[in-house]
Amino acid sequence: MSKFLIDKYKSLEAYTPGEQPRDMKYVKLNTNESPYPASKKVVDSISAEQIEKLNLYPDPECRELKLKLAEYYGVEYENIFVSNGSDEILSFAFMAFCGEQTGAVFPNISYGFYKVYGDLYNVDYTQAALKSDFTIDVNDYLNVNKTVVIANPNAPTGLSISLDDIEKILVSNPDNVVLIDEAYIDFGGLTCLPLLKKYDNLLIVRTYSKSRSMAGARLGFAISSKAVIDDLNRIKYSTNPYNINRLTLLAGAAAIDDSEYYNNCCKTVAETREYAKRRLSELGFEYLDSDANFIFARNDKISGEDYYLKLKENGVLVRHFSDQKITDYVRITVGTRAQMDVLFEKTEKILSEV
Ligand SMILES: *Cc1c(COP(=O)(O)O)cnc(C)c1O
Repeated sequence: MSKFLIDKYKSLEAYTPGEQPRDMKYVKLNTNESPYPASKKVVDSISAEQIEKLNLYPDPECRELKLKLAEYYGVEYENIFVSNGSDEILSFAFMAFCGEQTGAVFPNISYGFYKVYGDLYNVDYTQAALKSDFTIDVNDYLNVNKTVVIANPNAPTGLSISLDDIEKILVSNPDNVVLIDEAYIDFGGLTCLPLLKKYDNLLIVRTYSKSRSMAGARLGFAISSKAVIDDLNRIKYSTNPYNINRLTLLAGAAAIDDSEYYNNCCKTVAETREYAKRRLSELGFEYLDSDANFIFARNDKISGEDYYLKLKENGVLVRHFSDQKITDYVRITVGTRAQMDVLFEKTEKILSEV
C-alpha cells in the first residue's frame, strides 16, 4: 500500500478470482468457464481486416450487438445494455442503485463480488442467511426497501429460486431495483425474462463468459426497463464510454448468429452434469442439486481443503472457499466428459489413500 491511497480504500477486501496457475497443465474445473471453444462464426468474425481497424474507437452505443440481443430475447433495443463482462454491470448497478440511503440485500453465500462492490461503494448492505439446505428464504427479501441482488441459479450452490418467489420480491419492493444475475441460466432454471413486461424494477444480468464460451472476450449484458437502462448508461458515459472493444463487439454479435451451437454446448454440459452427479454419489459425495455448470460437493472422508489440495497435486483444479459456512465443500466446474473422468479417476485414488 502506498502512502497516497486515500483512507476509505485502505481496508478494502478485493475479490479473489479463481487461480490461473502456470506451473503445469491442469484439468481446469475451477472458474466455470465453458470447456468448448468459441463458435466458428465467432472465430471468423475477427478477420485480419477487422483487426486492422483497431486504430479506430469502437461504437460507444454498441448498436449492432444490442440490436441482435434485442431481437434474440424479444425485447426493444432500449431494454438492452452491454458491458465489459457482467461484473461491470454489477459495478454500475451498485454505483447507481445502492448507497448509504438505499442499501442492498443479497444472500450470505453467493457470488463474492456483491460484497466487494457493496464495500467499494459504501453501501449499507445486509447478507441474508441461506436456509440450512442452502436455499434462499424469500421472506428475507420481501418489503426490504433496499436493492435486492440474487444470482439465479445461485453460486456456488447451483440452486435456483422460483419465478413465483422472484415475482413476490418484485411486487413487494416497487421502489427498488431487483437485480437477478442469470450468469448460469442457460444451463438450467427458469429465466425471469417473462416478468420484464410487468415490472419496471427488474434488472436481469447475463454474461457471455459461461454459456457462450467467451470468458476471455469480457462481455456481459443487462435486460431491463428503458429507465433503468438509461441509468446504467449515465454511469457508463461517466466512467468509460468505450467499454467494449471492437473485436468483442463483433464476436458478441456473431455468437448470437450461432445460437444453435451454444445451445448444443449447454445441453451437453447439462447432460455431463447429471452424469457427474451420479458418479459423485457412487463415490460417497453429497452435493447440491445444481442447475448450473458446476456442482457444489462434499465428502465425509476428506475435508474440502484437503480434497482441493490433493486434486491440485494430481493435476485437477477445483475451487475451494475458506468461508467457514462452506469450507467442507468444493465447487467443481462441469467440463467435458473426458475431463470429468480424469476428476473421478483421481478422486478414487485420493479417497483410497485417506
Ligand atoms: C461468472 C459470474 C459473473 C461474472 O461474469 P463476467 O461476465 O465474466 O464478468 C457474474 N455473476 C456470477 C454469479 C458469476 O458466476
